[in-house]
Amino acid sequence: MDKLSRRDFNSTLAKGTGAAALMSISPLACAMGTPKTKKKLGVALVGLGSYSTYQLAPALRDTEHCYLAGIVTGTPNKEQIWANKYGIPKENIYNYQNFDDIVKNESIDIVYVVLPNSMHADFSIRAAKAGKHVICEKPMAMNVEECDTIIKACKQNKVKLGIGYRLHSEPYTQEIKRFVREKTFGNINYISADAGYRSMSNPEQWRLNKKLSGGGALMNMGVYAIQSVIYGTGENPISVSAQEYSTRPDYFKGTDETITAQFEFKSGVVGSIMTSHNIRANRLFASCEQGWFELDPASTYIPLAGRTSNGKLNFPQESQQKLQMDDFAKHILFNQPNKAPGEMGKRDMIIVEAIYKSIVEGGEKVDLNFSTNYGFGG
Ligand code: NAD
Repeated sequence: MDKLSRRDFNSTLAKGTGAAALMSISPLACAMGTPKTKKKLGVALVGLGSYSTYQLAPALRDTEHCYLAGIVTGTPNKEQIWANKYGIPKENIYNYQNFDDIVKNESIDIVYVVLPNSMHADFSIRAAKAGKHVICEKPMAMNVEECDTIIKACKQNKVKLGIGYRLHSEPYTQEIKRFVREKTFGNINYISADAGYRSMSNPEQWRLNKKLSGGGALMNMGVYAIQSVIYGTGENPISVSAQEYSTRPDYFKGTDETITAQFEFKSGVVGSIMTSHNIRANRLFASCEQGWFELDPASTYIPLAGRTSNGKLNFPQESQQKLQMDDFAKHILFNQPNKAPGEMGKRDMIIVEAIYKSIVEGGEKVDLNFSTNYGFGG
C-alpha cells in the first residue's frame, strides 16, 4: 500500500471516508468506466453466504489492488453487520431489487457474483449493463447458453469478465502448469483428478436442488476436476465418456451423487476424473514418461500440498482469494492477462454438458471440438 499503512487504511475506511480519500479520479476516465488513475478498485460482493463471509471479504482486507467497497444482499439484517465490520458506507449497500442503481455508483468497479448458480447469469448481466467489471463464481452458469449471454453482455458493455477459478493464481497450481509447459517430466501419459466431499448437512440446501444448482457434484466439485485435467495437461479434451453412481438416493433426490468420466486428448494422454457429493477426494496425479507429479489436496483453499518423482513441493501459503482478486484487478488496471476468462468458464460448461449427455446415452463417447486452448489462462 502506498502512503497509508494498512491499519490506517482500514481505520479510515471504517469511518466511511477511505474510498473517496484514497482515490484520485480523472473526469475523463470516470466517463469511460474504471478510472485509470485509481489506486485500488472497489469490489461489491453479491450474495453474503459462506464463501463471501469466510473467504472473499477477509481476503479483500489484504488485497493490494482492490478492496471491499460495497455489498448486495437479500437479507436486510446482514446490511448493518457488514457495514460495521467492513466500514461500508450506506450508499454502497444494495439489495437484489435496487441492485441496478449501482450504475450510478462510481466507487464500485467490480461486481463479484457469489450467489447460487441459477442466479449467476442474471446478476452478471445486470452488473455488465451497469458498466461494472464482473467476477462470476464457478460454475459459471446453469448451461452453455447462459455462459454465452454473460460473455456477450460483458463484451457489449466493454467490461472485463473473470470466473472465480482461484487456483490459477495459486503457486502449487502454477508450478504444475510450469511442469506441463516445460515438460519437466517429459510427455504426460495419464492424468487423473478427483474432487469431492461427503455431504451430510441439510438435504434442502440449494446445492442439492437442481433448479438452483443446475446439477450436483459435477456442477459443484466436478469443475475443479475438469480444470485439473486441463491445466495438468495443457490441452482441451477431444472426447469424454461418463458414468453416474447413486448409493444414497434418499438424500440425493434430484442431483448427481458421484460421476466418473474418461477423457481423450489429441496428444494421446488418457484422462480420468471422479467427482462426488458422497466421497472425499481432492487430488491431481499425472504419470509422465520421466516421472510423475501430484497435488493432494489439489483444490481446497486450505493450503495445497504436492509431490513429484523429484521430491516434495514447498511454496509459501497465501490466501488464494487475495491472489485471485488482485490478479483480476491487475488485468483491469494494468492489462495483465485474465487468468480465468469467461470463455474458460464456458469451455468447462461445454464439458459438463457433454458428461451429462454421455451419461444419458449410457456412457457413449461424446466428441468435443475446441478451437482455443484456455488451459493455462495466462
Ligand atoms: P451459500 O449457500 O453459503 O450462500 C448463498 C448466498 O446466496 C446466501 O447469502 C443466500 O442468502 C443467497 N441466496 C439468494 N437467493 C438464494 C436462494 N434462492 N437459495 C439459497 N441462497 C440464496 O453458498 P456459497 O458457498 O457462498 O456459494 C455461492 C457461490 O459461490 C456458488 O456459486 C458456489 O459454487 C461458489 N463457491 C465458490 C467457491 C470457490 O472456491 N471458488 C467456494 C465456495 C462457493
